[in-house]
This record gives sequence, C-alpha cells and structure tokens, in this order.
Amino acid sequence: MQFKRLKLSGFKSFVEPAELRIEPGLTGVVGPNGCGKSNLLEAIRWVMGESSAKSMRGGGMEDVIFAGTATRPARAFAEVLLTAETDPDGPYGAELEVVRRIERGAGSAYRVNGKDVRAKDVALVFADAATGAHSPALVSQGRIAAVIAAKPTERRMMLEEAAGIAGLHVRRRDAEQK
Ligand code: ATP
Ligand code: MG
Repeated sequence: MQFKRLKLSGFKSFVEPAELRIEPGLTGVVGPNGCGKSNLLEAIRWVMGESSAKSMRGGGMEDVIFAGTATRPARAFAEVLLTAETDPDGPYGAELEVVRRIERGAGSAYRVNGKDVRAKDVALVFADAATGAHSPALVSQGRIAAVIAAKPTERRMMLEEAAGIAGLHVRRRDAEQK
C-alpha cells in the first residue's frame, strides 16, 4: 500500500481545504514551529482510525475540529481523506479512498471507497496492509525516545505492526466478543 494523497478540511489548523501529494519513498515534514507539522501526521493517524483523543493532543475527539481564531469562526466539522495505491486484484481495487469526518455532537463517520463503514473496518483495512494509526512508519515527535523506553510487550506490538500481523489481533478480539 502506497499513500498517494491527503486532503484535509477543518482539521485542527488546516481550516481551509488543503491537499498534499505523497510521493514514493521517505517523506519528511519541515517548517517553523507551530505551522502544523504534527497536525499533518495526526491527520494521517486519525483517518486510519485513531480512537485516542489524548494521542491527538486533545481532551475530546471534537478538539480536532478547527476551533476558530480571533478572525475566523470555528468549523462545525473536520474531514480527512486519504488515498492509497493498492493491489488492483485486492479487495479495494487499484485505489483505496478512506474518509473520516467528525461533526460536533455527532461523532465520527467513515467511508471506504464511497461506502459507509464502521471504525473497526477501517482498522482492518490498514492492519492488513501493515500500517495503521499506530504504525511505526509514522515517526512523530518523541516517538524514538518512546521506542527506547518501551516495555518488552509494547515493543512486541510495534514489531507485530511492522510484520503485518496486527490484523490477526483485531480479528481475535472480535471473535472473543461473539
Ligand atoms: P513544532 O515545530 O513546535 O512541533 P508543529 O509544526 O508540529 O510545531 P503543530 O503542533 O502541528 O505544529 O500545530 C500547532 C498549531 O495548531 C497551533 O497553532 C495550534 O493552535 C493549532 N491547532 C491545533 N488544534 C487546533 C484546532 N482544533 N483549531 C485551531 N487550531 C488548532
Ligand atoms: Mg510538532
């Protein structure tokens, strides 16, 4: 799976619709303090199903919606769209498009290739592709130190994500609940 495009609207500091192309290879984000570098990375994690508001540096999930400034009103919703190149013979065809949208008071809704899906369906899409909201491929601030300080069980989870077997755990939890 190769990420191709990220579109944001009303997400944190990205109040106006913004679109970024993601080229093959390693991508770095540079810019002055407070310009939104971490917000961008958080947008990628968020559209892949991040459920922890704390890891989005917020008190509640609605804190990802543009909160307004002295000159601009707050937004009612935030939306992030991620497109990825996928195996044309796989379940999503050549291009996967995932959209997550949150509205004040209404929670999050997800779409995969235009179809409404549940959060856990989105988690499975990315877990099977060895990526996801907790993917070691996304290196955010403080992450290196966290890997060094991690407990062995936490480090095992990182290795499982990287090995692409994290999807098995999602399915096992699902089966155990039934
Ligand atoms: P640094 O180099 O310091 O790590 P950064 O480029 O990573 O900075 P971010 O942390 O991504 O910057 O962006 C911080 C900015 O995003 C702050 O100005 C903050 O006010 C703004 N911001 C975060 N959440 C919201 C929100 N919900 N509404 C409006 N602005 C927001
Ligand atoms: Mg930052």
